[in-house]
Amino acid sequence: MLKKNNSIKLIKYYNFINYNLIYNNKAINRYKNDKFKISSDKIKSLKFLKKSITDLKNCDLKKKAKNIVFGDGNPKSNIMLVGEAPGANEDEEGLPFVGRAGILLDKMLASINLNREKVYISNIVNYRPPENRRPTNEEIDRYLPFIKKHIQIINPKILILLGSTAMNALVGKDAVISKMRGRWIEKQYGNCKTNVIITFHPAFLMRQPAQKKMAWIDLKMIRDKKIQLKI
Ligand code: URA
Repeated sequence: MLKKNNSIKLIKYYNFINYNLIYNNKAINRYKNDKFKISSDKIKSLKFLKKSITDLKNCDLKKKAKNIVFGDGNPKSNIMLVGEAPGANEDEEGLPFVGRAGILLDKMLASINLNREKVYISNIVNYRPPENRRPTNEEIDRYLPFIKKHIQIINPKILILLGSTAMNALVGKDAVISKMRGRWIEKQYGNCKTNVIITFHPAFLMRQPAQKKMAWIDLKMIRDKKIQLKI
């Protein structure tokens, strides 16, 4: 028998990860049932979220990874970026975008007067997929409730999705990046209504430098939106 305290914790946990959203496919707004209020104390909410992820059972990614890669930057920022998954350097350091792709990302941010103190960064999955492969659909589905909750906690006014894995997970499975990048779309994740822009992943830009000119168009759109929203 579960003790009363433990069962309350369990119910809170299931609400927290949107249990209904995963196991119930009825077309209703299940966020209404989300009893876990995202507290104004973001740090507390982030700690709780991180613990929920580290408590995950039976995840092969987690078993093989050295560290959880949860997030980095300023949790009070109005600008959040979401990448795909940690690589070897990120796994080693427990921080997102600290390898070669991270160096390019920092340069991209700097070009519009942003840096890690001014944004918040996370990934679709929080553990490194072996050999840096793309996370599978099953892995993405397992971590999706957590990144959605992460977005709700940060509550950014601008959400930048880096690459097609982040786009397909958070905007739509059928979306195609060449058509979706470079435009603003409004999305709602729980209570968080946000302006989403999709741009190329820095690792892709390293392989296809000719596409950097398109990424620069996206960056300028972000810079203009920042001004428009007085961020
Ligand atoms: N690529 C990602 O998508 N995320 C990281 O954290 C690093 C590389």
